[in-house]
Amino acid sequence: MAKVYYNAEANENFFNNKKVAVIGYGSQGHAHAQNLRDSGVDVIIGIRKGKSFDKAVEDGFNVYTVKEAAEQADVIMNLLPDETQPKVYQEEIKPVLRAGQALMFAHGFNVHFNQIVPPADVDVLLVAPKGPGHLVRRTYEQGAGVPALFAIYQNVTGEARELALAYARGIGSLRAGGLETTFQEETETDLFGEQAVLCGGLTALVKAGFETLTEAGYQPEVAYFECLHELKLIIDLMYEGGMENMRYSISDTAQWGDFVSGPRVVTETTKEAMKAILKDIQDGEFAKGWILENQANRPVFNAINNRENQHQIEVVGRELRKMMPFVKPQQKEKEVVAVA
Ligand code: NDP
Ligand code: MG
Ligand code: MG
Repeated sequence: MAKVYYNAEANENFFNNKKVAVIGYGSQGHAHAQNLRDSGVDVIIGIRKGKSFDKAVEDGFNVYTVKEAAEQADVIMNLLPDETQPKVYQEEIKPVLRAGQALMFAHGFNVHFNQIVPPADVDVLLVAPKGPGHLVRRTYEQGAGVPALFAIYQNVTGEARELALAYARGIGSLRAGGLETTFQEETETDLFGEQAVLCGGLTALVKAGFETLTEAGYQPEVAYFECLHELKLIIDLMYEGGMENMRYSISDTAQWGDFVSGPRVVTETTKEAMKAILKDIQDGEFAKGWILENQANRPVFNAINNRENQHQIEVVGRELRKMMPFVKPQQKEKEVVAVA
């Protein structure tokens, strides 16, 4: 088992006389900023004018432009959407970066794929909680925390590791535990997980099951319950106790079907496809496609998104969920599980 870091391994005085600028006040930003503040850290926010800006002011923070915040801080945590970070870095952070400052991230994408190339005289590290922002905040308030990965990319001051642990402690993550990784490992596994399993693999599986039933003449409403709605129960059981716990709770018939039919759905061919996906991630092919797609203002992203939202499973789901007022999005905030 890899070494797990807890509060005791972090220097609780690390942030004395240091200022942290949290850049962005979205899902992760609001949680990091509030948790750090509650942990006694001097936090300011850097953000453009708009919804998040107003929210940060309302929450009692001193709010500045990204440039002003980066200039004042010792530690700069980048929590803008990954696609907008390079431009904002180039225009507002890079011009004011000083030797010895620390540049932090919650995902390695931009540094690993060279979309942000930090100067050689700053520390570069990441602390990535394995959960969406609202969970990072809620668990902190409950006295617990969401586990985090941390990684050091550049350690010029010799203090980058201490900072990573102190930061992870400040957001509550070392109450649960911290694991060390690298920018490469964090980036590639994050992309692979969301593409092959958590988002891409799962939605494709659900749609294929739904379509198989409806094309065979079964009612879409029934197919929706079987292929989408009931997923939550299964996922919760796996989350709480692995596949063993899930299989303990389902019927023996379901378990037998799981054993004999699962491998007929996800076959060696599927695994070959997963390996090809991983290779595209490792080679930078996926990153290139996504970066170019953004530069072109997302024509393909938007076309697929519109088409997907009109899929029959979505249309029937919207109606069925009206029957279940207890099934509501918890909140509007984007929740990408550690799938961000
Ligand atoms: P969000 O989209 O929730 O928030 C982005 C924030 O950046 C908003 O406050 C937005 O403000 C602001 N912003 C957007 N564009 C600009 C701009 N041009 N200039 C200034 N501010 C801007 O992002 P997340 O919190 O989801 O992601 C932040 C980072 O955390 C990413 O690196 C992501 O990979 C990582 N991460 C995310 C996780 C998650 O579950 N969400 C989990 C772990 C890591 P406005 O209201 O004005 O749009
Ligand atoms: Mg059943
Ligand atoms: Mg991700």
